[in-house]
Amino acid sequence: MQQSNQQAGSRGPIFKRDVAANRYELKCANQKATNDGRQAAQKLQWLRSAVQLAFLALLAGGLYGAVRPAFVALMPLAFLAGNYFCGWICPFGTAQELLGRLGALLVKGKLKMPPALQRYLQFSRYVLAAIILSHVAQSLVDLSAINAYKTFMRAMTGNVAQTAALVILGSFLVIALFFERPFCNYCCTEGVRFGVLSLGRLVTIKRSSDKCVNCRLCDKACPMNLSVAGVKAVRHAQCINCFQCLAACPVGALEYGKISLKRKRLAGAEADS
Ligand code: SF4
Ligand code: SF4
Repeated sequence: MQQSNQQAGSRGPIFKRDVAANRYELKCANQKATNDGRQAAQKLQWLRSAVQLAFLALLAGGLYGAVRPAFVALMPLAFLAGNYFCGWICPFGTAQELLGRLGALLVKGKLKMPPALQRYLQFSRYVLAAIILSHVAQSLVDLSAINAYKTFMRAMTGNVAQTAALVILGSFLVIALFFERPFCNYCCTEGVRFGVLSLGRLVTIKRSSDKCVNCRLCDKACPMNLSVAGVKAVRHAQCINCFQCLAACPVGALEYGKISLKRKRLAGAEADS
């Protein structure tokens, strides 16, 4: 009888236990697939970095505004395949990521928000978005003036108007040296739009529980502090499609692809629990 390592409650081998006859072949096949998968994930990271730098260059060259209307296509894309704006395009996200890499060199590693705190803090950007949307709040004080994403864009395009917001932004950039994407995680209302749309995605990151060895390197790599190892498929509004979890997985247990509707319901149930 076949029994997988997960069914038996252990986390070692990545092949079925009692298929002794072809265990070696299976292992070799897995190894090659794993190596191919890891190389593909690394190439994807290079591609993502190139796209991010291209948009940063467009911004520096004053052409970002010209391409912005095309971003409307990212909305239906988010609905089908997740949020590609934050992890691939947003120059402020890229700036935080670059500073994060610099910070990792300086302090030899990154700080992670304690999970107990993250559980509540992750809702802060939704609260901010709700406040900004609220007509009552808008009539009391123009909170849209502290939309840091827009302020960053204005600042970078030469219309510096809001000193207070710039100070807030500067603070987030300093924090980004130590914590990954702090603004994206806790304050960005722009990301909320794409994130909420992406909740219905059919194409997402899937985890194979047969291959997974529960090392949790994917969780460690996730800049949005998501639990990838704890779900069958990622379906969370915080996910920014950066695919750093894929690149971090040592056994190729993660892939980006279509999930069946049945699996989607399962993923939702797991994520909600
Ligand atoms: S789950 Fe993966 S793709 Fe989504 S934000 Fe985390 S690391 Fe990036
Ligand atoms: S990185 Fe995540 S998905 Fe890959 S083996 Fe480790 S826990 Fe499992």
